[in-house]
Amino acid sequence: MSQPIFHSPDHDHDRCTADALAHAEALCAQRAQRLTPIRRQVLTALLDSHKPLGAYEIIDRTATDGARAAPITIYRALDFLREQGLVHRIESRNAFIACVNNHANGELVVFLICDTCGEVGEAASAAVAGELKTAARAAGFTPKAPVIEITGVCAHCRNG
Ligand SMILES: [Zn+2]
Ligand SMILES: [Zn+2]
Ligand SMILES: [Zn+2]
Repeated sequence: MSQPIFHSPDHDHDRCTADALAHAEALCAQRAQRLTPIRRQVLTALLDSHKPLGAYEIIDRTATDGARAAPITIYRALDFLREQGLVHRIESRNAFIACVNNHANGELVVFLICDTCGEVGEAASAAVAGELKTAARAAGFTPKAPVIEITGVCAHCRNG
């Protein structure tokens, strides 16, 4: 993975956004899925920062000329983006984040949530995934997509 888990405050975020949108378009084309205008708007709103947004914040940000999308429209777009692995839900915040890490769908991701700046980093770990599956199977348990969320302080906030 070439990207840092937490982006420095002065990173080229336009590049992040452009890369993520290009990736989303390529992926949808490859899977014969449509990145409709509302899906694209929701993804763009989430790509505005590396911080999670609640559904109602997304509605505010995708409003055009004061016309706000219905919550169901936004939730459907979010469902689509999550199915495609372009967006993740941060359970503990009841919020959503655009994925800029381009990892496999269904891969275990550890979300690192900074309590100071609110940014969320993703640390993919095959080793952790393997251990968890082993532990779950030992308990006779069949895990679905595991989600791990860890709160703390990111390197930029700790050093700042
Ligand atoms: Zn960025
Ligand atoms: Zn991700
Ligand atoms: Zn931070």
